[in-house]
Amino acid sequence: MTTRSPKTYRKKRDFRQTPEPKGGVKNAGGKKPIFVIQKHAARQLHYDFRLQVGRALKSWAVPKGPSLNPKDKRMAAEVEDHPLGYAEFEGVIPKGEYGAGTVMVWDTGSYRNVTKRDDKKIPITKALKRGHVAVLLDGKKIKGGYALSRIAKGKKPRWLLVKMKDEKADARRKPTKSETKSALTERTMKEIEKEEKK
Ligand code: MN
Repeated sequence: MTTRSPKTYRKKRDFRQTPEPKGGVKNAGGKKPIFVIQKHAARQLHYDFRLQVGRALKSWAVPKGPSLNPKDKRMAAEVEDHPLGYAEFEGVIPKGEYGAGTVMVWDTGSYRNVTKRDDKKIPITKALKRGHVAVLLDGKKIKGGYALSRIAKGKKPRWLLVKMKDEKADARRKPTKSETKSALTERTMKEIEKEEKK
Protein backbone atom coordinates (compact mmCIF):
# COMPACT_ATOMS: atom_id res chain seq x y z
CA MET A 1 0.00 0.00 0.00
CA THR A 2 1.40 3.31 -1.00
CA THR A 3 0.94 6.42 1.10
CA ARG A 4 -1.08 7.87 -1.74
CA SER A 5 -3.67 5.11 -2.06
CA PRO A 6 -7.35 5.80 -1.21
CA LYS A 7 -6.91 3.34 1.66
CA THR A 8 -4.59 5.81 3.32
CA TYR A 9 -7.32 8.45 3.17
CA ARG A 10 -9.88 6.10 4.73
CA LYS A 11 -7.52 4.70 7.36
CA LYS A 12 -6.82 8.14 8.75
CA ARG A 13 -10.47 8.95 9.36
CA ASP A 14 -13.34 7.70 11.51
CA PHE A 15 -16.42 8.25 9.35
CA ARG A 16 -18.76 7.87 12.33
CA GLN A 17 -17.16 11.05 13.65
CA THR A 18 -16.12 13.19 10.72
CA PRO A 19 -18.56 14.69 8.18
CA GLU A 20 -15.93 14.27 5.43
CA PRO A 21 -16.95 12.11 2.44
CA LYS A 22 -15.96 8.45 2.47
CA GLY A 23 -15.46 8.43 -1.25
CA GLY A 24 -17.86 9.19 -3.99
CA VAL A 25 -17.28 10.25 -7.53
CA LYS A 26 -18.39 13.54 -8.90
CA ASN A 27 -17.67 15.13 -12.22
CA ALA A 28 -17.01 11.70 -13.71
CA GLY A 29 -16.58 11.45 -17.45
CA GLY A 30 -16.22 13.88 -20.28
CA LYS A 31 -15.91 17.19 -18.51
CA LYS A 32 -12.76 19.16 -17.87
CA PRO A 33 -10.78 18.08 -14.81
CA ILE A 34 -11.36 20.19 -11.73
CA PHE A 35 -9.13 21.78 -9.13
CA VAL A 36 -10.01 22.93 -5.65
CA ILE A 37 -8.22 24.95 -2.99
CA GLN A 38 -9.60 24.33 0.47
CA LYS A 39 -8.81 26.65 3.36
CA HIS A 40 -8.28 24.43 6.37
CA ALA A 41 -8.05 25.82 9.89
CA ALA A 42 -6.38 22.76 11.39
CA ARG A 43 -3.80 23.04 14.16
CA GLN A 44 -1.96 25.13 11.61
CA LEU A 45 -3.93 27.05 9.04
CA HIS A 46 -3.11 25.94 5.51
CA TYR A 47 -4.56 25.66 2.03
CA ASP A 48 -5.09 22.25 0.45
CA PHE A 49 -4.41 22.39 -3.26
CA ARG A 50 -6.04 19.52 -5.16
CA LEU A 51 -6.02 18.50 -8.83
CA GLN A 52 -8.39 15.93 -10.26
CA VAL A 53 -6.58 13.05 -11.89
CA GLY A 54 -9.09 10.44 -12.96
CA ARG A 55 -11.24 9.61 -9.96
CA ALA A 56 -8.88 11.03 -7.37
CA LEU A 57 -7.74 14.40 -6.15
CA LYS A 58 -3.96 14.71 -6.03
CA SER A 59 -3.36 16.80 -2.94
CA TRP A 60 -0.81 19.15 -1.43
CA ALA A 61 -0.94 21.11 1.82
CA VAL A 62 0.32 24.64 1.17
CA PRO A 63 0.88 26.53 4.45
CA LYS A 64 0.79 30.00 2.88
CA GLY A 65 -1.61 29.24 0.05
CA PRO A 66 -1.14 30.27 -3.58
CA SER A 67 0.55 33.53 -4.52
CA LEU A 68 0.00 35.60 -7.64
CA ASN A 69 3.60 36.78 -7.55
CA PRO A 70 5.93 34.64 -9.73
CA LYS A 71 8.76 35.46 -7.32
CA ASP A 72 7.09 33.60 -4.45
CA LYS A 73 7.90 29.93 -3.95
CA ARG A 74 5.19 28.34 -1.89
CA MET A 75 6.05 25.14 -0.05
CA ALA A 76 3.61 22.36 -0.87
CA ALA A 77 3.66 19.11 1.11
CA GLU A 78 2.26 16.22 -0.87
CA VAL A 79 -0.45 14.41 1.10
CA GLU A 80 -2.65 11.40 0.43
CA ASP A 81 -5.02 11.37 -2.55
CA HIS A 82 -8.52 12.43 -1.62
CA PRO A 83 -11.72 11.09 -3.23
CA LEU A 84 -13.21 13.28 -5.92
CA GLY A 85 -16.25 14.00 -3.75
CA TYR A 86 -13.98 15.88 -1.34
CA ALA A 87 -13.86 18.81 -3.76
CA GLU A 88 -17.24 19.98 -2.48
CA PHE A 89 -16.60 19.32 1.18
CA GLU A 90 -17.09 22.30 3.42
CA GLY A 91 -17.62 21.80 7.12
CA VAL A 92 -16.06 21.14 10.49
CA ILE A 93 -13.91 18.11 11.23
CA PRO A 94 -14.56 17.42 14.93
CA LYS A 95 -11.97 17.73 17.67
CA GLY A 96 -9.85 14.64 18.11
CA GLU A 97 -10.28 13.59 14.48
CA TYR A 98 -7.58 13.69 11.82
CA GLY A 99 -7.26 17.27 10.52
CA ALA A 100 -9.72 18.65 13.11
CA GLY A 101 -10.90 22.14 12.20
CA THR A 102 -12.97 24.11 9.73
CA VAL A 103 -12.72 23.49 5.98
CA MET A 104 -13.81 26.00 3.32
CA VAL A 105 -13.89 25.60 -0.45
CA TRP A 106 -11.82 28.72 -0.95
CA ASP A 107 -11.56 28.38 -4.71
CA THR A 108 -12.59 25.89 -7.35
CA GLY A 109 -12.88 25.56 -11.11
CA SER A 110 -11.42 23.60 -13.96
CA TYR A 111 -7.80 23.23 -14.97
CA ARG A 112 -5.77 22.28 -18.00
CA ASN A 113 -2.53 20.34 -17.92
CA VAL A 114 0.03 22.27 -19.98
CA THR A 115 3.14 20.36 -18.96
CA LYS A 116 5.66 20.06 -21.76
CA ARG A 117 9.07 18.58 -22.26
CA ASP A 118 11.13 19.30 -25.33
CA ASP A 119 8.05 21.00 -26.75
CA LYS A 120 6.00 17.83 -26.37
CA LYS A 121 2.93 17.58 -24.19
CA ILE A 122 3.20 15.29 -21.17
CA PRO A 123 0.16 13.57 -19.65
CA ILE A 124 -0.60 14.63 -16.08
CA THR A 125 0.13 11.22 -14.53
CA LYS A 126 3.55 11.17 -16.15
CA ALA A 127 4.20 14.79 -15.19
CA LEU A 128 3.40 13.99 -11.54
CA LYS A 129 5.72 11.01 -11.60
CA ARG A 130 8.52 13.10 -13.07
CA GLY A 131 7.97 15.79 -10.47
CA HIS A 132 7.20 18.70 -12.72
CA VAL A 133 3.66 19.83 -13.51
CA ALA A 134 2.35 22.96 -15.23
CA VAL A 135 -1.36 23.74 -15.08
CA LEU A 136 -3.65 26.53 -16.22
CA LEU A 137 -6.25 27.20 -13.53
CA ASP A 138 -9.64 28.67 -14.25
CA GLY A 139 -11.10 29.30 -10.83
CA LYS A 140 -13.19 32.06 -9.33
CA LYS A 141 -10.27 33.65 -7.49
CA ILE A 142 -7.21 32.06 -9.04
CA LYS A 143 -6.57 32.00 -12.78
CA GLY A 144 -3.59 31.39 -15.00
CA GLY A 145 -0.53 29.21 -14.96
CA TYR A 146 1.05 27.51 -11.97
CA ALA A 147 4.06 25.24 -11.83
CA LEU A 148 4.54 22.50 -9.28
CA SER A 149 8.07 21.18 -8.89
CA ARG A 150 9.11 18.40 -6.59
CA ILE A 151 12.12 19.30 -4.49
CA ALA A 152 12.22 16.30 -2.14
CA LYS A 153 11.22 12.68 -2.64
CA GLY A 154 10.68 9.97 -0.06
CA LYS A 155 7.95 9.41 2.48
CA LYS A 156 7.03 13.06 2.70
CA PRO A 157 7.52 14.55 -0.74
CA ARG A 158 7.91 18.29 -0.88
CA TRP A 159 7.04 20.48 -3.85
CA LEU A 160 7.11 24.18 -4.68
CA LEU A 161 4.02 25.90 -6.06
CA VAL A 162 4.96 28.91 -8.18
CA LYS A 163 2.87 31.31 -10.24
CA MET A 164 3.95 31.30 -13.87
CA LYS A 165 4.65 34.60 -15.59
CA ASP A 166 1.52 35.46 -17.52
CA GLU A 167 -1.14 38.14 -17.68
CA LYS A 168 -2.75 36.81 -14.50
CA ALA A 169 0.42 37.34 -12.46
CA ASP A 170 0.05 40.23 -10.00
CA ALA A 171 2.56 41.00 -7.28
CA ARG A 172 0.16 43.35 -5.49
CA ARG A 173 -2.99 41.30 -5.20
CA LYS A 174 -2.92 38.99 -2.18
CA PRO A 175 -6.05 36.86 -2.52
CA THR A 176 -5.46 34.79 0.61
CA LYS A 177 -5.61 38.06 2.57
CA SER A 178 -8.30 39.98 0.70
CA GLU A 179 -10.64 37.23 -0.50
CA THR A 180 -11.77 35.29 2.49
CA LYS A 181 -15.16 33.90 1.52
CA SER A 182 -16.12 30.48 0.21
CA ALA A 183 -16.22 30.06 -3.58
CA LEU A 184 -19.09 27.64 -3.05
CA THR A 185 -21.31 29.25 -0.43
CA GLU A 186 -19.82 32.74 0.11
CA ARG A 187 -19.55 31.97 3.81
CA THR A 188 -16.67 33.06 6.01
CA MET A 189 -14.72 30.55 8.11
CA LYS A 190 -16.64 31.76 11.17
CA GLU A 191 -19.99 31.25 9.48
CA ILE A 192 -19.06 27.75 8.37
CA GLU A 193 -17.94 26.96 11.88
CA LYS A 194 -21.14 28.27 13.43
CA GLU A 195 -23.43 26.54 10.95
CA GLU A 196 -21.70 23.20 10.60
CA LYS A 197 -20.39 22.49 14.09
CA LYS A 198 -22.27 19.71 15.80
MN1 MN B 1 -5.65 20.01 5.18
